[in-house]
Amino acid sequence: MDKDSIRKALKKKREEVQPTMKEAISQKICQRIACRPEYREAVKVAFYYPWKGEVSLIDLATQALKEGKEVFFPRVMGETLVFCPVKTLKELSPGYRGIPEPTSSPADPGEIGLLLVPGVAFDWEGYRLGMGGGFYDRALGTLKQYQTSLGVAYNFQLVESLPRNWWDKKVDVIVTENTIITPSTSWNLKRRIQ
Ligand code: ADP
Ligand code: MG
Repeated sequence: MDKDSIRKALKKKREEVQPTMKEAISQKICQRIACRPEYREAVKVAFYYPWKGEVSLIDLATQALKEGKEVFFPRVMGETLVFCPVKTLKELSPGYRGIPEPTSSPADPGEIGLLLVPGVAFDWEGYRLGMGGGFYDRALGTLKQYQTSLGVAYNFQLVESLPRNWWDKKVDVIVTENTIITPSTSWNLKRRIQ
């Protein structure tokens, strides 16, 4: 199947998840991420605002702020996603396509320790299908060896293998309500060579 067909089918499925189910699964995923070393060790964490049925990490972001982590949210600037710090989620206000965005100055992308990445689908190797804008491909492309990316999805969004173009980027870890995928040893290797 081509990207567009997979995108269409899985976007539909994601939007059809009932609110109570979405809430329950999101809670579970928040807890799972909170236990991960990539999250525990990160001081500066970039979240995303849940859109079109995406898993909600809002509770985790609230918790992260309470714990004293530095929390960032993405803002669309032209073709680029910039990540801006927030002290409270009340700072987010509708921006690109009505998605709540921060208004503060963008951080240096090299500062982010952990990038939490939404997706329409992920495959077993860590490749990702997004909404079609390529925004996270560009953002992931700027990450350095010491920065970690974690894909967040419902279990039904996992597929064996996605079509990929030269610009598609992998994430280091994928967390769903049922499983955790570390597609390669890249994350461990990264840590070992730090
Ligand atoms: P998504 O990742 O959101 O599913 P695609 O992978 O289909 O979307 O990419 C959408 C568009 O973004 C493509 O037309 C591609 O040319 C562009 N794009 C993505 N990453 C880059 C990049 N690093 N440099 C240039 N163009 C890019
Ligand atoms: Mg892509």
